[in-house]
Amino acid sequence: NPALTKIGAQMSNLTGVRAIMKDIVETLKAGAGQEFMNLSAGNPLILPEVEQLWRDCTAELLASSEYGEVVCRYGSSQGYAPLIEAIANDFNKRYGLNLSDRNILITPGSQSLYFYAANAFGGYTNNGELKQIVLPLSPDYTGYGGVCLEQEALKAYKPTLDIDAAAHRFKYRPDFSQLSITESTGCVLFSRPCNPTGNVLSDDEVKKIAALAAPHDVPVLIDSAYAPPFPALNFTEMTPVFGENILHCLSLSKAGLPGERIGVAIGDEGIIQALESFQTNLCIHPSRYGQAIAASAINSGALAKIAEEVIRPFYQKKFAVLEDTLDTAMPKDLPWFLHRGEGAIFAWLWLQDLPITDWEFYQELKQVGVIVVPGSSFFPGLREEWPHKHQCLRISLTGSDAEIVTGMQLLAQVAERVYQRA
Ligand code: PLP
Repeated sequence: NPALTKIGAQMSNLTGVRAIMKDIVETLKAGAGQEFMNLSAGNPLILPEVEQLWRDCTAELLASSEYGEVVCRYGSSQGYAPLIEAIANDFNKRYGLNLSDRNILITPGSQSLYFYAANAFGGYTNNGELKQIVLPLSPDYTGYGGVCLEQEALKAYKPTLDIDAAAHRFKYRPDFSQLSITESTGCVLFSRPCNPTGNVLSDDEVKKIAALAAPHDVPVLIDSAYAPPFPALNFTEMTPVFGENILHCLSLSKAGLPGERIGVAIGDEGIIQALESFQTNLCIHPSRYGQAIAASAINSGALAKIAEEVIRPFYQKKFAVLEDTLDTAMPKDLPWFLHRGEGAIFAWLWLQDLPITDWEFYQELKQVGVIVVPGSSFFPGLREEWPHKHQCLRISLTGSDAEIVTGMQLLAQVAERVYQRA
């Protein structure tokens, strides 16, 4: 094996949830023949109406004179011009903005966008000063753990908890008494709606974070992979927030195109230009086939319509099945708390004072055929010890109704046993 550099060693490690996914794949392989209720997936389901939309757009592209231009030639680093124009028109109309093509960058998936931003704005400056990438509310997306070439730059903040004990529900809030955004902040990053918790920061909380960052010209990246207008995986009212120092980041992955890798950054021209150059150096430009079909689905309005009429209700119903089952099956006297299901494709369960770790609980669940994701992998950048980090589970809403019901009933039994044993 060749010797690895510091960055090489770091980047060739599987971080966060990817490491657990490996364990899950091995479990499924080893248990071939055994029935597992796999509630771990982050991969969205293939919904027939959504697949049909992309098929139709593909047929239209194949029949058009643009086909050769799209797949047989290099394009601009900023992205495919008709997609940029479609997004500018759609957002200007929908949100009363004044975007031009200079405010938009298309990237190969939004994960790459976070990688560019984390390293363009976070890490060491020419003066040797460390600029932090601030995650204002931990837990958050596990993928943020792998995007910084300078690991020490990632800094996450513990939240406060709104607890409704009688209802067995809770919600995270940013802890503004702790959150520090200063001249040593490089950028701020959070998902809204949030993977893994399904939390949606309120419009006021978002504006407050942006206002803390504005005096220092710190870009605030709002990861809108689950937000309206597409995939519209918000189950509660929310308005996208725009502003001079806000980079609004989209992904088409949860709108049915994860394999095509399409991310979009919308924001200030200067920020877009820096990220575009980063992209040119890295990969020249994202693939254009997916961009071309996306342009067509956005221009016709079909994507936003399917998001609202098909994608959102599908997952919202799954969450209702999950919460009804837990309410019925979980022992009332246990301190279990389900995070308010405000969006995304996951449920987040907190088992307060759990007598074993989340990893051990995950192992016990596997024994009864249920696979979820232990929560401790969703606290990237939170270095301080906090028992809560080992008391949570992420449950995917991509299972069938029957899998969710049986899975949650078995989980309730395991939880009862584990607390009783202690
Ligand atoms: N951000 C969040 C919150 C996600 O959940 C995901 C994927 O699951 C991503 C970003 C990465 O998405 P992509 O790179 O496919 O756009």
